[in-house]
Amino acid sequence: RAKDEGGGEHYRYEPALHASAEERRKLEFSLRHAIERGELLLHYQPVVDAIGENVLSFEALVRWNSPEHGFVSPVKFIPLAEDTRLIVPIGQWVMEQACTEATNWPAHIRIAVNVSGEQLIEPDFASTVVRALAKSGLEASRLEIEVTESIFLRDADVARAALEEIMALGCSVALDDFGTGYSSLGYLRKLRFSTIKVDRSFVQGAANAHPESLAIIRAVVAMADSLEMSTTAEGVETAEEAEMIRKLGCKKIQGYYFGRPMPAADARKVVRRAPALAKAVGA
Ligand code: C2E
Ligand code: MG
Ligand code: MG
Ligand code: MG
Repeated sequence: RAKDEGGGEHYRYEPALHASAEERRKLEFSLRHAIERGELLLHYQPVVDAIGENVLSFEALVRWNSPEHGFVSPVKFIPLAEDTRLIVPIGQWVMEQACTEATNWPAHIRIAVNVSGEQLIEPDFASTVVRALAKSGLEASRLEIEVTESIFLRDADVARAALEEIMALGCSVALDDFGTGYSSLGYLRKLRFSTIKVDRSFVQGAANAHPESLAIIRAVVAMADSLEMSTTAEGVETAEEAEMIRKLGCKKIQGYYFGRPMPAADARKVVRRAPALAKAVGA
């Protein structure tokens, strides 16, 4: 087994993404009961400002620890949840859990929650957000929704209307994994995203001295600046990458270098340390 695994990520990754019908059926069966059995949990990954390196927010990332399947990556079970519409109750659970956890942090630290297109086109999406805010007592301005370009491929008008509704509540919306989708830039004229998140593949490309990736990041930052949107670089893993991103003018940084997704208890420790740190450097 260990020897097989030495065969590399690629070998194991492909069959996971193209799981057999039988495997999918088993996963779906387990996923249906994951919430009520308490098998889902959230990890939180810090986003820091590129200059001062203070924590600005955490992104909530769902984890599934299944007794039958072990640890299942969201890369595998989120698409399954989307296909089966299980993403609606799962997403609602994530939203409430994340908002509640954020009330334990200082008020200047925000929470980012990923939302799938399938959730957005539910007629009552905005009311599930309202409910999560009311239940938790979190201020709407502390909640940021992350969506990907793929939401505009289908039911674009419905998705846009839902996003405008939650923006009217005072929440912000970030455009995740920017540059990896296939949709047009037209929607950038219509929706006021707070932040464009530059996909990890460009950051890694730039780090590996691919001039095309550098040029694309530079162009995205310039475009975001003139649209009065902020930028976050995803997947920053080293000090060198952080420095490069800073020079490119990205406003915020997220990645293993500043912190991996961590359990709620560890995120609380990070935010407790943060003010002391800021004081120590006279910020
Ligand atoms: P995402 O929203 O783009 O989240 C960032 C992903 O990049 C996370 O993977 C995170 O662990 C990973 N990451 C962060 N920094 C680094 C880095 O420096 N290097 C590398 N190699 N990776 C890094 P994760 O947690 O496996 O989540 C994968 C995707 O699953 C997310 O991508 C998001 O699209 C989806 N997802 C996760 N939680 C939820 C959720 O609650 N709801 C929905 N709808 N989707 C979710
Ligand atoms: Mg995200
Ligand atoms: Mg992303
Ligand atoms: Mg991603």
